[in-house]
Parts: sequence; structure tokens; C-alpha cells
Amino acid sequence: MSEIHLRVITPEGIYKEFDTPYLNFQSTDGDRGILPNHMPLVTSLKIGKMTCEEAGKRELFAVSGGLLYFRDNLAEILTDAIERSDEIDYERAKAALERAQNRLQTGNENLDVKRAQLAIARALNRLSVSGH
Ligand code: ATP
Repeated sequence: MSEIHLRVITPEGIYKEFDTPYLNFQSTDGDRGILPNHMPLVTSLKIGKMTCEEAGKRELFAVSGGLLYFRDNLAEILTDAIERSDEIDYERAKAALERAQNRLQTGNENLDVKRAQLAIARALNRLSVSGH
């Protein structure tokens, strides 16, 4: 049976590369799932979740946005950051959330609101994926 070959690329290089029978992800236009032999696709990813099978085991990942390209059963994800659920440092995500919330609350005029909101979205996503 054919599978999807998944390759995930971050600024540090290839994060992971493995075969999966399916790939579920959250694109900016909604939740999507692809199976082998899906038609070619390019889509932007939200800060959200991704599920697939790694070494035969269903795994959940926190994805910090990016791009997904699919063609000929190769799925390439380009993202700033991605963590599998068991790689997430819960305390770190909680601290990042509090920092960003405090920045928004103090609201000085140099505050980059969009940046703080994105930090909050990444932290909430990590907390949710970590399953605590
Ligand atoms: P922080 O303020 O804690 O760095 P951040 O959202 O600014 O959070 P990113 O810039 O998205 O962090 O990620 C930087 C690197 O740190 C990436 O490699 C990412 O995978 C990793 N990372 C960030 N937060 C966590 C976490 N809670 N647990 C594990 N890895 C994390």
C-alpha cells in the first residue's frame, strides 16, 4: 500500500522524515486530511495541530504555522517550529503564555500587539497538544 512520505523542514534543518498512511492538519482555510495519491496541493498552515502515524503509532504535533506542499505522495512542511506532543515543555509554554498576556495587559505604546497575540496562540496550542 502506498504511503505519504512526510518531510518537515524548520530553520534548523530537517526536523523529521518518515512515512505515514494519512496526514491531518489545520490550514488557514480549515481542517484538512490527506491520504496517499491525493491531488497536488499547496496550502498555508495555521498555528495548530497535526496528526499522522510515525513508526506505526498515531502522533500529535504542535505546528507553529507555515506551508504544506504535497505532490506525488511527498508532503513537505516548512515551519518555524514544530514539536511532537511528548517534546513539549509544559512549564515553558505556560511561562510564554503568561509573558505574552502580561505584555498585552501593560499595553505600552511600543507594544507589537500582533506579535504578542501570535506568542499567545503558539503557547495555547502547545499547552493543548501537550495534553496537560
Ligand atoms: P518561548 O518564548 O518559550 O521561546 P516561542 O513561542 O517564542 O516560545 P518559538 O520561537 O516558537 O518559541 O520556538 C523556538 C524554538 O523553541 C523552536 O525550536 C520550538 O520548537 C522550541 N519551543 C518553543 N516552546 C517550546 C516548548 N514549550 N516546548 C518545547 N519546545 C519549545
